[in-house]
Amino acid sequence: MDKLTSMIADMKLVVGETYVIHTVEDLLVFEYDGSADKALPDAVVLPSNTTEVASIVKIALENEIPIIARGAGTGLSGGAVAKGGGLVLSLTRMNKILEINSKDHMAIVEPGVVNIDLSHSAEKYGLYYAPDPSSQKACTIGGNVAENSGGPHCLAYGVTTNHILGMEVVLSDGSTQWLGSNTREFQGYDLRGIMVGSEGTLGIVTKIAVRLLKKPESVRTLLAVFKHIEQASSAVSGIIAAGIVPAAIEMMDHICISAAEAAVKAGYPQDAGAILLVEVDGLTEEVAEETEEIERICDNYNPIEIRKATSMEDREKLWEGRKGVLGALGRLAPNYYLVDGTIPRTKLMEVLSGISDIAKKSGLPIANLLHAGDGNLHPSVLYDERIPGQTKVALDAGAEILKLCVDSGGVLSGEHGIGLEKQEYMPLMFTQEDMDAMSKLKPAFITMDMLNPGKIFPTGTPHVQISQGPAVARTGAGAYK
Ligand SMILES: Cc1cc2nc3c(=O)[nH]c(=O)nc-3n(C[C@H](O)[C@H](O)[C@H](O)COP(=O)(O)OP(=O)(O)OC[C@H]3O[C@@H](n4cnc5c(N)ncnc54)[C@H](O)[C@@H]3O)c2cc1C
Repeated sequence: MDKLTSMIADMKLVVGETYVIHTVEDLLVFEYDGSADKALPDAVVLPSNTTEVASIVKIALENEIPIIARGAGTGLSGGAVAKGGGLVLSLTRMNKILEINSKDHMAIVEPGVVNIDLSHSAEKYGLYYAPDPSSQKACTIGGNVAENSGGPHCLAYGVTTNHILGMEVVLSDGSTQWLGSNTREFQGYDLRGIMVGSEGTLGIVTKIAVRLLKKPESVRTLLAVFKHIEQASSAVSGIIAAGIVPAAIEMMDHICISAAEAAVKAGYPQDAGAILLVEVDGLTEEVAEETEEIERICDNYNPIEIRKATSMEDREKLWEGRKGVLGALGRLAPNYYLVDGTIPRTKLMEVLSGISDIAKKSGLPIANLLHAGDGNLHPSVLYDERIPGQTKVALDAGAEILKLCVDSGGVLSGEHGIGLEKQEYMPLMFTQEDMDAMSKLKPAFITMDMLNPGKIFPTGTPHVQISQGPAVARTGAGAYK
């Protein structure tokens, strides 16, 4: 019996026959996440509790097979893709909300809990979980922790790390540890902070203690419509310069507006060059004052229209358009390559104009979607992988955008992580000494490099080559027929 066959047999004894997947046709769906990267894992295992996770990790260690943790597979940097094969450990069966403590405003959840389900469950106590990636109807809290995810409302409330109190992790020797605490205070090194954003390379997160926030007394949502993206960018700078920190400031360009409108009918005007979706929340009087101030600032930049949501349905519709825009881009092209750079907000206009030049040079449309308040850009290069050579053109355009972000004083990732996608570009920001210092953390947590190896740090293989690696799903001419 070869190593993989015997490992599959051992894992079936731990989790049951049904929860080990190993035939090629069943593995196919695990080749992907939301990025351009694909690779076929050797097997997938779906444990139901921490003890099973620990047993699986020990089996993988004995067989020296790498483990790639996986939540919902919505990641946009190839983090859950098993480049080079290995065992995908899917946490989706561990999806219980174990405790909601309404007095202390915290909850303990399993990693496979879908982000929005936590806020829905906390609603009856007047509480919610603040980090809200636009993928929140699908992505898991475990994936959010691993990527330190953000979302539209992270401008005022902070990203995932600001809402994680502690977590249970299974380390690569199969031991289980609790890092951090269940309260905001803890002593000693902040190992919780190290685990958040470590992209599954240091441990498998099996339980998470999160902060819950009290739902605000009042919320106002405003749609500001502009003819030109430059006016919308100036309005963002104006709002921030006035010292206002809204809960969210999202920007969409003309391409995003038409795609979202066709898909969702959110009421975005089709003739707009750009829209801003601004939300303010808090105490009723403060919200009223800030909304007026924001309207005044937007007025300085000749908006076509400023519209306030007048009901909860109105507000939800406006957000549905924003949160559904990536899916809606599928109406314009079969593939998009979504880039995730963050820049100083003052450089918004300059960088957007650079992106427009890159679009012209590449011959591919680039749709701009921004968490504008925190300078987090999501230019999406639209392409068709069936056209020979077009994937490379799209990835090269993405690489140029990332360089532009770093050159403007920004960073490689605002929220989607480095994964496979951006490892080649780490030297744009970090010296070899910086990266060596970061990678010295690994031996403190893991006995051998078997947790999501080949992610984050440069492997010497260009991304375009990584993403074009062998996979079962057909790509190139003839795919989707
Ligand atoms: C339409 C769309 C919109 C999006 N919007 C946003 C947004 O607004 N903000 C944002 O930040 N992101 C966004 N994303 C990206 C993505 O949803 C997030 O990165 C999310 O946190 C990934 O969660 P997941 O459960 O899908 O994780 P996966 O994609 O399955 O995994 C992501 C990474 O986490 C690791 N991992 C997963 N679970 C665990 C665990 N239990 N223990 C250790 N490691 C683990 C994996 O190994 C991998 O490295 C969006 C994606 C899509 C498709």
